[in-house]
Amino acid sequence: MQITEIYKSLQGESTHAGLPCVFVRLTGCNLRCTWCDSEYTFQGGRKMTLDEVRGEVSRLSQAPGLVEITGGEPMLQEKEVVPLMQRLLDDGYQVLLETSGERPLEHVPAQVVKVVDVKCPDSGEANTFRMDNLATVTACDEIKFVLASRADYDFALDFTRRHRLAEKVHAVLFSPAFRKDATGARDSSHCLLDPQQLAEWMIADNVPARLGLQLHKFIWDPAVKGV
Ligand code: SF4
Repeated sequence: MQITEIYKSLQGESTHAGLPCVFVRLTGCNLRCTWCDSEYTFQGGRKMTLDEVRGEVSRLSQAPGLVEITGGEPMLQEKEVVPLMQRLLDDGYQVLLETSGERPLEHVPAQVVKVVDVKCPDSGEANTFRMDNLATVTACDEIKFVLASRADYDFALDFTRRHRLAEKVHAVLFSPAFRKDATGARDSSHCLLDPQQLAEWMIADNVPARLGLQLHKFIWDPAVKGV
């Protein structure tokens, strides 16, 4: 499979935020979100076998521990990445899959925690969510909306309520988008949607979701990769 990087850091998103985690970042994405902070994954990388990836993961962190499969869009390499996730589970790791929601997810092993995006209008990739994926998410999974505006918030709130997401998954996450060229200050000034504003809307609407911040961007310079 084509891999951009494998590294160890703290998990920055989802309900696992704050935990040490090995990230396996696969190369390539078929979407082009306006605020994407992973454009460096679109090309390049290096070919690695399943056993080479397993070896690198175990060098960085012995099982049990957290491993996130991410990208780019990892499910573009479904034939290779599904067996990889199963082997990592067999090795004793807890496996998270971060995915755009555009690819089919029915072949993802059941023990993998899926963190599935639903793209909002300001991403430029609205309507890419594969509605069949609502049948594949379970009470262990998480659904994430990255928000850049009030229009995005209204979309996310309507989608969450209409599809009763809070009853389907472990967590629904509303997360402010970060400016993709952000650098320097490690604070919310780089958010495209002010977290305080988002929090106030969520409180007023009693939203069945939790506000998620990208923790790593408040710990390291947001321009730093591999953290
Ligand atoms: S799906 Fe993810 S990697 Fe692909 S363009 Fe959007 S944010 Fe970037």
